[in-house]
Amino acid sequence: MKEYKVNIGLEVHIELATESKMFCRCSARHFGKKPNTQVCPICLGLPGALPYTNQQAVEDAIFLGLAFNCHVNEFSKFDRKHYFYPDLPKGFQISQYDLPLCINGQWSMVNGQKITIRRIHLEEDTAKLIHQEIDGKRVSLIDFNRSGVPLVEMVTEPDFVTPAQVKEFLKEVQRVVRYLGISNADMEKGSMRLEANVSLQKTKSLPDYKVELKNINSFRFLTKALKSEIQRQKKVLSGGGKLVQETRGYNEANGRTFSQRTKEEAQDYRYFPEPDIPPLSFTKAQIAKLKSKIPELPSAKMERFIKDFKITQNYAQVLTTDKARADYFEEVIALGKKHQLSGKTLADLIVNKNLDIQFPEPAGLVRKVIELTKKEFAGQAEVGKAVIGVLSEEKKAVADFKKGKREVVGFLIGKVQKQLEGKGEPKKIREIILKELKST
Ligand code: ZN
Ligand code: MN
Repeated sequence: MKEYKVNIGLEVHIELATESKMFCRCSARHFGKKPNTQVCPICLGLPGALPYTNQQAVEDAIFLGLAFNCHVNEFSKFDRKHYFYPDLPKGFQISQYDLPLCINGQWSMVNGQKITIRRIHLEEDTAKLIHQEIDGKRVSLIDFNRSGVPLVEMVTEPDFVTPAQVKEFLKEVQRVVRYLGISNADMEKGSMRLEANVSLQKTKSLPDYKVELKNINSFRFLTKALKSEIQRQKKVLSGGGKLVQETRGYNEANGRTFSQRTKEEAQDYRYFPEPDIPPLSFTKAQIAKLKSKIPELPSAKMERFIKDFKITQNYAQVLTTDKARADYFEEVIALGKKHQLSGKTLADLIVNKNLDIQFPEPAGLVRKVIELTKKEFAGQAEVGKAVIGVLSEEKKAVADFKKGKREVVGFLIGKVQKQLEGKGEPKKIREIILKELKST
């Protein structure tokens, strides 16, 4: 098979965790709620209803853009994106077309790879279709609780070459979004959804098609779906075939992608400015104010942990994944410093033994660690005393050892254990016996 260059671009949809929906005051907390209980004429798309903009959602989307080093457009607007689908009763989605909130972001991944963010825009989520069988009939039910929930969409350039890079980037997006506190970005709950454009090229010119992989709903299937699609395209191209612009889904059961429809172009959506919502404008001062509120992001925190607390990258990454855990660790470090407890010791206990779950208060954990280390020292002193006692009594065994009879060590360990009434680790006792024997 010939070598092809793989291009993968992403469209990531993230549901914002605002109190209310994008264009009405209904609650946006739809997960697990009784169907169709959080609806009004606006989010049901009834004729004549007038949408109005959720300011918090706009700020959250700009906040995300700033975190990804985007340029924020001082003038922005909403547009209607027309398409027909049962979960979209208006016949259009309010989205953004030519003037999105944010453009041209740059992101450096932990491994140094640079990713360009083409745009970040704001739109409304659709209703949810539930396919079921009732009384032997296959039916589709619609729940409008999700209709109108704010969604931000992040579009990247096709900068990814492998499925592993895509996964790594998405994990970073998830961490950042959680640090910013604008969404839980939970893939399994549908609050982060991924579409990936995949195309292959042999020459320097970009391919004239891209295949859009839809609805990848878990990190588990993400890599599998992308790998399978890349394989499929390689096969078609090396067999002399031609690939077409289309949308494909992923069948989890057979591990293959399947064609859903040939992809529409932007003109098919008949975008036009949303006449019911005034355009948005921002001053430089407003944007600067939002920028000043961006907290230290996970990658920066990770670098600082490695440098300041002398812990491994692996530990630092685990400890900074969740902001609450990172804050906890910093408190533990500060308290532990007074007792000469090293970052490594504390990180070890938190990462490998999950001691932070047993001790939700940092002070409690530090007390426990001090207790653990003291016990170990006390134990060691006790063993040392017993060893010295036994060696002073067992003069013959000591003399035999000096003549090269190393098997007496086992006998001496037994004697020490007897004196300690069974306590003490044989390995540790052996260590101390050997040390004593060599120093006498
Ligand atoms: Zn509503
Ligand atoms: Mn979208």
